[in-house]
Amino acid sequence: MPTFEPLPPDGSFEFFCGPQNACFNRCCRDLNHYLTPYDILRLKHRLCLPSQKFLKYYTELHRGPESGLPVVSLKMSSDQSRACPFVTSTGCRVYEDRPTACRTYPLGRMVCRNPGETTCRESYFLIKEAHCLGFDHPNRWTIAQWKKNEDIAPYNQMNDLIMDIIVLMRQRRAKPLTDLEVDRFCMACYDLDRFRDFAAARNLRVPAECKAFVAGSLEADTALMRFGIEWIRDELFQDDSACGEGS
Ligand code: SF4
Ligand code: SF4
Repeated sequence: MPTFEPLPPDGSFEFFCGPQNACFNRCCRDLNHYLTPYDILRLKHRLCLPSQKFLKYYTELHRGPESGLPVVSLKMSSDQSRACPFVTSTGCRVYEDRPTACRTYPLGRMVCRNPGETTCRESYFLIKEAHCLGFDHPNRWTIAQWKKNEDIAPYNQMNDLIMDIIVLMRQRRAKPLTDLEVDRFCMACYDLDRFRDFAAARNLRVPAECKAFVAGSLEADTALMRFGIEWIRDELFQDDSACGEGS
Protein backbone atom coordinates (compact mmCIF):
# COMPACT_ATOMS: atom_id res chain seq x y z
CA MET A 1 0.00 0.00 0.00
CA PRO A 2 1.38 3.46 -0.83
CA THR A 3 2.04 6.02 1.87
CA PHE A 4 1.31 9.69 1.36
CA GLU A 5 3.59 12.36 2.82
CA PRO A 6 2.43 15.99 2.65
CA LEU A 7 5.01 18.43 1.27
CA PRO A 8 5.11 22.15 2.14
CA PRO A 9 5.01 24.51 -0.90
CA ASP A 10 8.78 25.03 -0.67
CA GLY A 11 9.41 21.35 0.08
CA SER A 12 11.84 19.12 -1.82
CA PHE A 13 12.42 15.40 -2.34
CA GLU A 14 15.03 13.02 -3.76
CA PHE A 15 14.05 10.99 -6.80
CA PHE A 16 15.32 9.51 -10.04
CA CYS A 17 13.41 7.44 -12.57
CA GLY A 18 14.96 5.74 -15.58
CA PRO A 19 15.83 2.42 -17.26
CA GLN A 20 18.88 2.13 -14.96
CA ASN A 21 16.52 1.41 -12.06
CA ALA A 22 15.80 -2.27 -11.35
CA CYS A 23 12.15 -1.30 -10.89
CA PHE A 24 11.88 0.12 -14.44
CA ASN A 25 8.29 -0.32 -15.74
CA ARG A 26 7.12 -2.02 -12.55
CA CYS A 27 4.84 0.93 -11.85
CA CYS A 28 3.02 0.70 -15.21
CA ARG A 29 0.68 -2.15 -14.32
CA ASP A 30 -2.28 -2.96 -12.15
CA LEU A 31 -3.32 0.66 -11.88
CA ASN A 32 -6.62 2.37 -11.25
CA HIS A 33 -5.54 5.04 -13.65
CA TYR A 34 -8.09 7.81 -14.18
CA LEU A 35 -7.74 10.00 -17.23
CA THR A 36 -8.68 13.66 -17.33
CA PRO A 37 -10.31 15.14 -20.46
CA TYR A 38 -6.97 16.74 -21.35
CA ASP A 39 -5.13 13.41 -20.86
CA ILE A 40 -7.50 11.87 -23.41
CA LEU A 41 -7.01 14.74 -25.81
CA ARG A 42 -3.22 14.43 -25.68
CA LEU A 43 -3.26 10.64 -25.98
CA LYS A 44 -5.64 10.50 -28.90
CA HIS A 45 -3.48 13.03 -30.74
CA ARG A 46 -0.37 11.05 -29.88
CA LEU A 47 -1.93 7.87 -31.27
CA CYS A 48 -3.58 9.66 -34.23
CA LEU A 49 -6.95 8.20 -33.29
CA PRO A 50 -10.42 9.75 -33.31
CA SER A 51 -11.61 10.22 -29.73
CA GLN A 52 -14.36 7.61 -30.10
CA LYS A 53 -11.86 4.91 -31.10
CA PHE A 54 -9.43 5.89 -28.38
CA LEU A 55 -12.19 5.60 -25.79
CA LYS A 56 -13.33 2.25 -27.16
CA TYR A 57 -9.88 0.62 -27.36
CA TYR A 58 -8.16 1.98 -24.30
CA THR A 59 -10.60 3.07 -21.64
CA GLU A 60 -13.42 2.10 -19.29
CA LEU A 61 -16.22 4.37 -18.18
CA HIS A 62 -17.32 4.67 -14.53
CA ARG A 63 -19.33 7.08 -12.39
CA GLY A 64 -17.54 9.18 -9.77
CA PRO A 65 -18.75 7.93 -6.36
CA GLU A 66 -19.17 11.43 -4.89
CA SER A 67 -19.94 13.69 -7.83
CA GLY A 68 -21.84 11.13 -9.93
CA LEU A 69 -20.00 12.50 -12.97
CA PRO A 70 -18.76 10.06 -15.62
CA VAL A 71 -15.05 9.29 -15.20
CA VAL A 72 -12.74 7.42 -17.55
CA SER A 73 -9.92 5.05 -16.64
CA LEU A 74 -7.20 3.36 -18.67
CA LYS A 75 -8.06 -0.25 -19.48
CA MET A 76 -5.29 -2.52 -18.17
CA SER A 77 -4.54 -5.76 -20.05
CA SER A 78 -6.84 -8.64 -19.16
CA ASP A 79 -3.99 -11.12 -18.60
CA GLN A 80 -2.25 -11.67 -15.30
CA SER A 81 0.20 -8.83 -15.81
CA ARG A 82 -2.59 -6.20 -15.85
CA ALA A 83 -0.20 -4.02 -17.83
CA CYS A 84 -0.91 -0.50 -19.05
CA PRO A 85 -1.63 -0.65 -22.81
CA PHE A 86 1.23 1.79 -23.44
CA VAL A 87 4.07 0.11 -21.58
CA THR A 88 6.83 -1.57 -23.63
CA SER A 89 10.11 -3.22 -22.68
CA THR A 90 11.85 0.09 -23.41
CA GLY A 91 9.42 2.25 -21.49
CA CYS A 92 6.27 4.25 -22.14
CA ARG A 93 5.35 4.50 -25.82
CA VAL A 94 3.30 7.66 -25.26
CA TYR A 95 5.89 9.28 -22.99
CA GLU A 96 5.70 12.84 -24.41
CA ASP A 97 1.93 12.79 -23.95
CA ARG A 98 1.70 10.57 -20.86
CA PRO A 99 -1.24 11.28 -18.58
CA THR A 100 -1.21 13.71 -15.66
CA ALA A 101 -0.81 11.07 -12.93
CA CYS A 102 2.24 9.47 -14.64
CA ARG A 103 3.77 12.90 -15.26
CA THR A 104 3.26 14.11 -11.72
CA TYR A 105 4.42 10.93 -9.91
CA PRO A 106 6.01 10.61 -7.35
CA LEU A 107 4.04 13.70 -6.44
CA GLY A 108 0.30 13.78 -6.01
CA ARG A 109 -1.64 17.03 -6.36
CA MET A 110 -4.66 18.13 -4.38
CA VAL A 111 -6.74 21.08 -5.51
CA CYS A 112 -9.66 22.88 -3.98
CA ARG A 113 -11.78 25.66 -5.32
CA ASN A 114 -14.76 27.32 -3.72
CA PRO A 115 -17.68 28.73 -5.75
CA GLY A 116 -16.82 32.27 -6.81
CA GLU A 117 -13.06 31.74 -6.65
CA THR A 118 -11.35 32.00 -10.00
CA THR A 119 -8.26 29.93 -9.26
CA CYS A 120 -7.66 26.57 -7.63
CA ARG A 121 -5.49 26.26 -4.55
CA GLU A 122 -3.05 23.39 -4.92
CA SER A 123 -0.91 21.37 -2.55
CA TYR A 124 1.40 18.43 -3.18
CA PHE A 125 2.26 15.23 -1.37
CA LEU A 126 4.77 12.43 -1.97
CA ILE A 127 3.46 9.00 -2.96
CA LYS A 128 5.82 6.30 -1.70
CA GLU A 129 5.38 2.72 -2.92
CA ALA A 130 7.50 -0.25 -1.88
CA HIS A 131 8.27 -1.30 -5.48
CA CYS A 132 9.57 2.13 -6.50
CA LEU A 133 13.34 2.47 -6.08
CA GLY A 134 13.39 6.03 -7.39
CA PHE A 135 13.68 7.42 -3.87
CA ASP A 136 17.06 5.72 -3.39
CA HIS A 137 18.81 8.26 -5.61
CA PRO A 138 20.17 11.57 -4.30
CA ASN A 139 18.74 13.75 -7.10
CA ARG A 140 16.99 16.54 -5.23
CA TRP A 141 13.99 18.38 -6.65
CA THR A 142 11.82 21.20 -5.42
CA ILE A 143 8.14 20.92 -6.35
CA ALA A 144 8.59 23.81 -8.82
CA GLN A 145 11.59 22.13 -10.47
CA TRP A 146 9.70 18.85 -10.82
CA LYS A 147 6.66 20.56 -12.34
CA LYS A 148 8.86 22.33 -14.87
CA ASN A 149 10.90 19.24 -15.71
CA GLU A 150 7.79 17.13 -16.32
CA ASP A 151 5.90 19.92 -18.16
CA ILE A 152 2.93 19.61 -15.84
CA ALA A 153 1.60 23.20 -16.13
CA PRO A 154 -0.55 22.78 -19.28
CA TYR A 155 -2.10 19.66 -17.78
CA ASN A 156 -2.91 21.35 -14.48
CA GLN A 157 -4.40 24.37 -16.26
CA MET A 158 -6.73 22.24 -18.34
CA ASN A 159 -7.56 19.82 -15.52
CA ASP A 160 -8.56 22.69 -13.23
CA LEU A 161 -11.29 23.78 -15.65
CA ILE A 162 -13.36 20.80 -14.60
CA MET A 163 -13.22 21.83 -10.93
CA ASP A 164 -16.14 24.25 -11.37
CA ILE A 165 -18.38 21.39 -12.43
CA ILE A 166 -17.26 19.09 -9.61
CA VAL A 167 -17.84 21.82 -6.99
CA LEU A 168 -21.26 22.65 -8.44
CA MET A 169 -22.22 18.97 -8.55
CA ARG A 170 -21.36 18.52 -4.89
CA GLN A 171 -22.88 21.73 -3.62
CA ARG A 172 -25.82 22.60 -5.83
CA ARG A 173 -27.04 19.62 -7.75
CA ALA A 174 -29.86 17.83 -5.95
CA LYS A 175 -30.92 15.44 -8.73
CA PRO A 176 -28.72 12.76 -10.30
CA LEU A 177 -27.66 13.33 -13.89
CA THR A 178 -30.06 12.07 -16.54
CA ASP A 179 -28.80 9.64 -19.21
CA LEU A 180 -28.82 12.50 -21.72
CA GLU A 181 -26.73 14.69 -19.40
CA VAL A 182 -24.25 11.86 -18.85
CA ASP A 183 -23.93 11.43 -22.60
CA ARG A 184 -23.48 15.18 -23.15
CA PHE A 185 -20.84 15.36 -20.43
CA CYS A 186 -18.94 12.43 -21.98
CA MET A 187 -19.16 14.04 -25.40
CA ALA A 188 -17.98 17.53 -24.35
CA CYS A 189 -15.21 16.33 -22.04
CA TYR A 190 -13.99 13.03 -23.44
CA ASP A 191 -15.26 12.55 -27.00
CA LEU A 192 -14.12 15.79 -28.56
CA ASP A 193 -14.44 14.70 -32.19
CA ARG A 194 -18.12 13.93 -31.60
CA PHE A 195 -18.51 17.27 -29.81
CA ARG A 196 -17.00 19.13 -32.78
CA ASP A 197 -19.66 17.64 -35.08
CA PHE A 198 -22.38 18.32 -32.51
CA ALA A 199 -21.28 21.96 -32.14
CA ALA A 200 -21.37 22.43 -35.92
CA ALA A 201 -24.78 20.76 -36.29
CA ARG A 202 -26.28 22.83 -33.45
CA ASN A 203 -24.57 26.07 -34.51
CA LEU A 204 -23.03 26.48 -31.06
CA ARG A 205 -21.05 29.69 -30.71
CA VAL A 206 -17.62 28.14 -30.86
CA PRO A 207 -15.01 30.82 -30.05
CA ALA A 208 -12.94 32.23 -32.90
CA GLU A 209 -9.72 30.84 -31.41
CA CYS A 210 -10.93 27.30 -32.23
CA LYS A 211 -10.96 28.32 -35.88
CA ALA A 212 -7.70 30.26 -35.71
CA PHE A 213 -5.70 27.03 -35.59
CA VAL A 214 -5.57 24.23 -38.17
CA ALA A 215 -8.79 22.19 -37.80
CA GLY A 216 -8.20 19.08 -35.71
CA SER A 217 -4.78 20.28 -34.45
CA LEU A 218 -3.88 19.98 -30.77
CA GLU A 219 -4.21 23.77 -30.37
CA ALA A 220 -7.65 23.85 -32.01
CA ASP A 221 -8.82 20.86 -29.98
CA THR A 222 -7.51 22.39 -26.73
CA ALA A 223 -9.52 25.54 -27.45
CA LEU A 224 -12.55 23.41 -28.32
CA MET A 225 -12.19 21.51 -25.05
CA ARG A 226 -12.13 24.77 -23.08
CA PHE A 227 -15.36 25.74 -24.82
CA GLY A 228 -16.87 22.28 -24.32
CA ILE A 229 -16.25 22.34 -20.56
CA GLU A 230 -17.88 25.79 -20.28
CA TRP A 231 -20.77 24.59 -22.43
CA ILE A 232 -21.47 21.49 -20.37
CA ARG A 233 -21.29 23.48 -17.13
CA ASP A 234 -23.97 25.81 -18.49
CA GLU A 235 -26.02 22.85 -19.75
CA LEU A 236 -25.97 21.09 -16.37
CA PHE A 237 -26.59 24.11 -14.18
CA GLN A 238 -28.60 26.60 -16.23
CA ASP A 239 -31.91 25.27 -14.89
CA ASP A 240 -32.21 26.26 -11.23
CA SER A 241 -34.96 23.71 -10.70
CA ALA A 242 -32.32 21.01 -11.20
CA CYS A 243 -30.28 22.40 -8.33
CA GLY A 244 -30.55 22.27 -4.58
CA GLU A 245 -29.79 25.20 -2.28
CA GLY A 246 -26.86 27.34 -3.39
CA SER A 247 -23.96 27.66 -1.03
S1 SF4 B 1 0.87 5.81 -19.72
FE1 SF4 B 1 3.03 5.35 -19.82
S2 SF4 B 1 3.92 6.06 -17.90
FE2 SF4 B 1 1.71 5.91 -17.62
S3 SF4 B 1 1.31 3.89 -16.77
FE3 SF4 B 1 1.13 3.71 -18.98
S4 SF4 B 1 3.16 3.13 -19.73
FE4 SF4 B 1 3.38 3.89 -17.63
S1 SF4 C 1 11.60 4.59 -10.26
FE1 SF4 C 1 9.47 4.34 -9.64
S2 SF4 C 1 8.38 5.52 -11.21
FE2 SF4 C 1 10.42 5.06 -12.04
S3 SF4 C 1 10.24 3.11 -13.15
FE3 SF4 C 1 10.84 2.61 -11.05
S4 SF4 C 1 8.87 2.21 -10.04
FE4 SF4 C 1 8.40 3.37 -11.88
